[in-house]
Amino acid sequence: MPFFTRIKLALQRFMMGRHGPDRLSLALLWGGLIVNLISSLLSGVAVKNQSTLLSALCLLLMAAGYGMYFFSIYRMFSRNLPKRQAEAQRFDSFWQRVSTGLRQAINRFKNRKQYKYFRCPCCKTRLRLPRGKGVVTVTCKCCHTSFTQKA
Ligand SMILES: [Zn+2]
Repeated sequence: MPFFTRIKLALQRFMMGRHGPDRLSLALLWGGLIVNLISSLLSGVAVKNQSTLLSALCLLLMAAGYGMYFFSIYRMFSRNLPKRQAEAQRFDSFWQRVSTGLRQAINRFKNRKQYKYFRCPCCKTRLRLPRGKGVVTVTCKCCHTSFTQKA
């Protein structure tokens, strides 16, 4: 059997019954990389200014970065599948919320000249009106509260 095939099979056997990589592990690796990058950039500033506080912050960030790497690798090799799957699910739904919120914020920014965006004073639902309508009475689509709004 070729050498690389043997290694591949051994790796497959080793990963059997283990969680393996997922989006959370990947995000942790990237997060750790970014945190360590910030830490090394900050350490330059800390040395220049001889700041003890900044040095302490750098150490803390570095520890956090390595902690993220460690947790990522630990998760990949973990045999506690239900726990890892629950974590992955929580992370995916969190990420879904963040990316949806970001997408909506970008859309609001793009359309800010056409629409006036505001929140319902009662239930805080986001609403919009075409700009240039003057003062109008709005009925919230969610809680049906009526209020006046300048657009
Ligand atoms: Zn409302």
